[in-house]
Amino acid sequence: MKYLVANWKCNPESIAAAKKILSGYAKKIKKSKSTAMVVCPPFCYLQNAKEILKSRTAFGGQNCHWQSGAFTGEISTAQLKNVGCSYVIAGHSERRFNFGEADQIINKKIKTAIATGLTPILCVGETREQRIDGKITEIVEAQIKEGLKDVDVTTTPIIIAYEPVWAIGTGQACGVDEAKFVREFISNAISDKIAVLYGGSVNAQNAAAYVKDAGFDGLLVGTTSLDPEEFFEIISAVAAIKPKSKITGQ
Ligand code: PEP
Repeated sequence: MKYLVANWKCNPESIAAAKKILSGYAKKIKKSKSTAMVVCPPFCYLQNAKEILKSRTAFGGQNCHWQSGAFTGEISTAQLKNVGCSYVIAGHSERRFNFGEADQIINKKIKTAIATGLTPILCVGETREQRIDGKITEIVEAQIKEGLKDVDVTTTPIIIAYEPVWAIGTGQACGVDEAKFVREFISNAISDKIAVLYGGSVNAQNAAAYVKDAGFDGLLVGTTSLDPEEFFEIISAVAAIKPKSKITGQ
């Protein structure tokens, strides 16, 4: 199974604009047995996404809280599940750095998401400084170890997204060979049965190489996923790659 996750981040600003993107997706995207499409719009558009895309894609939250009740401004895993999500992104670098989310918090989100029946997509990746200091594997390993503490990865559906922080939203995607090195490190560190995605300035030109040449199980696409035409080019490029067959559908 290959995964294509669309992370809209905090975009767009109006329902009309969200519906336009969703209608653009609906015109092109068909349900596929070999490619799981996961659309992660802002929470306020999840219902629109469900209405417009129906069962063509799966849906995911961009974040969650591990409790419900008196937590103003948060969204619980149960709320995500009940609005039709089957995935949730956890530990995106924009949350780690803008909102101070530490690995221990991310671990709570992941465990609660799993208990609720959501598949967590754990984002890991180094900053530019950490990369220059030669700490890529140290950082990625620590984020995985802490983020998945007390999670049995052999029995639990979980996805890892390798997203070098310096590559996110910068237009400077990670070199395919460098990304491959980290992908192999992650598979060796946890299990080669776990799906590992690449994210960071993916576009229609560079998308296929991460799957075909670097062996990733799919892509997490931010900015480009707001453009249905280019996003569909990415989907088509990835769908055309022959499956590696190690990952079973989740
Ligand atoms: C992301 O939001 O996770 C991401 C990879 O963004 P972008 O594709 O814009 O780099």
